[in-house]
Formats: sequence, C-alpha cells, structure tokens
Amino acid sequence: MEHSDKFFFVHYAEVGLKGKNRIYFEKKLARNIRLSLRGTGYAEVKRLHDRIAIYLNKDTDIQEIEKRLTKVMGVAHFEIVVRTSKDIDAIKETAFQLTKGKEFETLKVETKRTDKSFPLTSPEISREVGGYVIQKTDAKADMHNPDLRFWINLTHNGTYIYTDKCRGVGGLPVGVSGKVLVMLSGGIDSPVAAWQMTKRGTKAVFIHFYSYPYTDKASLEKVVELTRILSESNYRSELYLVPFAELQQAIVTETPAPYRVLLYRRMMTRIAQRVASVVDAEALVTGESLAQVASQTLPNLRSIEVVAEIPVLRPLIGFDKVEIIAKAEEIGTFEVSTLPHEDCCSLFVPKHPATHATQVELDKAEVGIDIQALVEDAINGIEKKVVSFSYEH
Ligand code: ATP
Ligand code: MG
Repeated sequence: MEHSDKFFFVHYAEVGLKGKNRIYFEKKLARNIRLSLRGTGYAEVKRLHDRIAIYLNKDTDIQEIEKRLTKVMGVAHFEIVVRTSKDIDAIKETAFQLTKGKEFETLKVETKRTDKSFPLTSPEISREVGGYVIQKTDAKADMHNPDLRFWINLTHNGTYIYTDKCRGVGGLPVGVSGKVLVMLSGGIDSPVAAWQMTKRGTKAVFIHFYSYPYTDKASLEKVVELTRILSESNYRSELYLVPFAELQQAIVTETPAPYRVLLYRRMMTRIAQRVASVVDAEALVTGESLAQVASQTLPNLRSIEVVAEIPVLRPLIGFDKVEIIAKAEEIGTFEVSTLPHEDCCSLFVPKHPATHATQVELDKAEVGIDIQALVEDAINGIEKKVVSFSYEH
C-alpha cells in the first residue's frame, strides 16, 4: 500500500527524562500509541530521537487518529505534518490546502531552512507563502497573535509543513508508574480518580462491591461500562466484582447504626487490600474528596484507612464537586455515572452517621462480627472480568 504524504509527530514533555528512564518511557509511549490506534489503518509508529512519528496509509482515517491520540496518557501535543517537494509553488499550494476546514481571520508563517542551497531565505519563504494564503482566503497577517500559524521546515529531504499543534492530555504513559487497585463505585467520583491516576502513568485494576440481591444489578452493568471507557487510556483492564450483601447483613445486625457506612468502608478496604496483594497493586485508590459526605471527614478517612497496609491514594481530595463533574464530562464517564443505581454504601444507613469516629470506636463496634471469616467469604465469591480494550462499541 502506498504511504500518505501526511503523518503525525507526537511530542511528550521531557522534564526529568534522562538516560535509561527516557528509553523506557518512550518505548511504553510508542507501545501505548500502537494499542490506541489499532484498527485505524496507520502504517507505522516509530520512535525518533525526540518525538514519535506516526506514518499513515493513503486511506487512514486522520480524524479518528486525532481523537484517539487525545486519550493517550503521556502525549503533550501532536501535529499533522505534510511533506512536499522543495518547490515554492508546491509549498504555497500545500499550505493553502492545510487551511481547509479551519476557521481563522489572521495568520502567520514561520520558516526554518536547513537546506541553504534553496534560492529563497526563510523570511522570503514565509512572505511568499503567507501572501499566497492571504490572497486565497481573505485572511490578514498578524505577527503577534495570529489565529492560525504555519510552520515550514525546509530540509535536504524535502519540505515539511504543519499548522497549530493539538493538545494532548500530558502526564506519563500508562505502565511506567506501577499498578494501583481502584475502588470503583459506579458513582461520579471514582472513575475520575482512576483517570487521574492513569494520567500519572499507573496501570489501574478495578474492584467493585455490590449488594445483590438487596440492590438490583444496575451497578454491575455501570461499572463494566465505566471500566470500558477508562480502558481507552488504561487498555486491557481487570475488574474484580465482590459480593457484599452477606457482609452488610452481619454489620447491620451486629453493629451500632451510626458506624455502618464506616464499617462497610473498612471491610471494603480489607478485601481490596487482599486483592491488591494478589494482583501486585502498590496502592488503593478511592474517589474521596475532603468533607464531601459524612464518611469523608479527616477523622473518618483516618479510621477507615488504618486497616490498609498499603497507601490509600485519593487524587480528588482537594477537588470541589463541580470540578469533579466537569472532569467526568471531559473524560466521558459522567453520563454513565449518573444513570440510576443504588450503591451498597447507601443501604441500611441512618440519617445521622458518625462524622468523627475514632479508630478505637470502630474497633469496638466491630467486636461482634467475625472479620476474618467475612473477608474470606467475600474473597471466595469474587468474579473476575477482563474488559478488553476496543473502540468498537
Ligand atoms: P463515588 O462518586 O465514587 O461513588 P461518593 O462521593 O459516592 O463516591 P462514597 O459513596 O462515600 O462517595 O464512596 C467513597 C469512595 O469509596 C468511592 O469514591 C469509591 O472509591 C469507594 N466506594 C464506595 N462504594 C463502593 C463500591 N460499591 N465499590 C467499590 N468502591 C466503592
Ligand atoms: Mg458513591
């Protein structure tokens, strides 16, 4: 198949990337880009010395590639480049073609010429090309704050032209920062928490607790769909589904009502801790945000997390609800998160839960239940689902 004269350059933020680290980072990023672009018909993803190039075939869907690149963690920005000959008329026409579908009133052309044998200087090339596009489009030149910029790079191998860069999400490629176990509830917050961690390069494994038959199975369908959306950045994703009804029954019959939510959350943390050690996750992640609800005050967060042996990370701790919602909309989880479902944490919960429970109080409240046996039972009932990564839904 014939290659296209268009290709992408993908750039990453280089801060702190040196030596071996950098090679590791770049290989992961290239690998993740290949995963993301499966099925788009691209020709090759290649690591160059300070960027990654994506070569295309003639029939590659360029817009689909742009859309997917905006979900690859670690991409700072990218651009479509067009290669043309070292002929001023060809350069002018290619620049004009690049304006198709773009809205702009002002423009600027910047040229770098590494092939000094070319008869025009860099400023002359910029002027010629700018003048041509202005004449064809009615735009004006603006050297300071143009709506549209053209970059022309005239080299010994040919001329490369591109317009404005597209912004990527930034962050680090998934996989370079280890693995975390995300407690995914089906609500708005935890998928956003997962996304924030993925953005920092951790691979997410997911765990969800459900109360069937006390609740319907809506939460299960929701978490599977949320996991699928998150897999667009996290790729192949494991989801552990834990039956929680029996355990809640024990808490409801044996412990004081004001502590119930906190005791549910403690049990979830204990079970998650066990799963984390099996899947080699180095931290638990929750969607908690300080003081959003009664169970998320500082004293309560502390008396819940003491039962964990690994760190409990809360990437949304300083986010307001409106900020979390905006992020959920941006990453595409909001719609699914707001479908109706009943969370197991809201079952059998009193109107006025404890807001300042100490560790000692919770330890005391738990004396009537056989923690070990309940954890064991829940773990034996776990079902593992693998959500394989695909855009085809
Ligand atoms: P979310 O919007 O993520 O449901 P929330 O504001 O409703 O969060 P809580 O219900 O108190 O807050 O839950 C706090 C955190 O505990 C959640 O963000 C999630 O990480 C975890 N969690 C709660 N319920 C579940 C569940 N059924 N399965 C897995 N994790 C859960
Ligand atoms: Mg919730």
